[in-house]
Amino acid sequence: MSERGRVAMISEHANPLAFLGSEDAGGQNVYVYEVSTGLARLGYRVDVFTRRDSPAPPQIVRLAPGVRVVHIAAGPAEFIKKDALWAHMPAFMEGCRACIAAQRRRYDVIHSNFWMSGWVACELKARLGLPFVHIFHALGAIKRLEQGAADTSPAGRHEMELRIIREVDRLIAQCPAEVDDLRRYYTASLANVCVVPSGVNIRRYRPVPRRAARARLGLRADERIAGYVGRLVPRKGVDTLMAAFARVAVARPAAPLRLMVVGGETRDPEEDPTPEMARLRGLAAELGVAERVWFVGKRQPDELAEYYGAADVMVSVPWYEPFGLTPLEAQACGRAFIGSAVGGITYTVDEGVTGLLVPPRDDAALADKLALLLSDAPLRHRLGRAGRRRVEREFTWARVAERTAAVYETLRPAVLPIAIGGVPVPSQEMQ
Ligand code: UDP
Repeated sequence: MSERGRVAMISEHANPLAFLGSEDAGGQNVYVYEVSTGLARLGYRVDVFTRRDSPAPPQIVRLAPGVRVVHIAAGPAEFIKKDALWAHMPAFMEGCRACIAAQRRRYDVIHSNFWMSGWVACELKARLGLPFVHIFHALGAIKRLEQGAADTSPAGRHEMELRIIREVDRLIAQCPAEVDDLRRYYTASLANVCVVPSGVNIRRYRPVPRRAARARLGLRADERIAGYVGRLVPRKGVDTLMAAFARVAVARPAAPLRLMVVGGETRDPEEDPTPEMARLRGLAAELGVAERVWFVGKRQPDELAEYYGAADVMVSVPWYEPFGLTPLEAQACGRAFIGSAVGGITYTVDEGVTGLLVPPRDDAALADKLALLLSDAPLRHRLGRAGRRRVEREFTWARVAERTAAVYETLRPAVLPIAIGGVPVPSQEMQ
């Protein structure tokens, strides 16, 4: 296949080679991995620039055919929380600039992820004249609104986000709710905004027979299991799930009910590295359900279909959610899903058809839906089957890569996008 273009993917903290499930490694790492490899399959060559956060890997690692990860030295070669990374961004930007300038062949586009890499892209555009496409993954204004004083983002994030919106060539929003947020909190001119939802790996996240999954995980076949997969941070609302589960369980002391919580800093469910787990364990004890909650620990993506498969119902009720991959994964695994009616979840769940929605931070409302689904097998199966079908139709990473390529193609001067490689451009959904 002839080369369609060269992409400099910039992702300062989210390395596609990282292990997932810990505090700062989640959906963005998956996005960078899947979009980069998907673009490479379409004929692009992609270099992912990320900060070196460990002394171990070589400077350049080949991730897949056509995709390399370039580790840029900026600050100590160790993990640094993302909110403390801002001070190292000038060095990171300079490292990216030097690397990009040294390439024999020019990149066609920069694709930046998260606001800090967006700032890097602004600076590189000014210095090297390269166009850039940006995806925020999360907006500072929403984080501030929802987390208040607990928001540890560096001062100046909002101004930087405004600058990115002014200077970006194409801004990718992941769902219509993000477009609304941009309009409301940034008064963004939306001329450059394209909606490209993220996706799910439908080969990895596939329906696994429940009984077999449980046998392999050492779980009883006769239990009703509600599950959560994701990072263990307060905004994910696992405490709301716990409280809702307790309402259901305490009302039915004899029923074999279990709550399965996957995620944390380590493979073993250790509290020291994951303080949120200690808090949730304490809450489970207070609510009288400690015996019924299984903290699994962090698991790698290729193990997760088994955990989704073991559950009867999967739940994710965050306070806010820019997009949310786990709701798609649960649906791809054919499991009934309950989510909070926020952000991307209102888009990835077809309410009443593939899953149910509840208001965030509302354990009573969640308990009602949980009780309903745990006691209604035909409804669970109907939602699960419809979820899988919809994901296959609308949310594959191959489709995300095609839509992203279509956005790139609109940057080529004097080329009619419709003529490029057969990619259906209208799917970029200019808002
Ligand atoms: N994840 C994982 N192992 C875990 C917990 C989470 O691989 O133990 C993955 C999960 O499957 C999903 C990603 O981390 O792909 C979380 O992405 P999401 O968009 O749901 O939330 P974020 O973490 O970005 O807020």
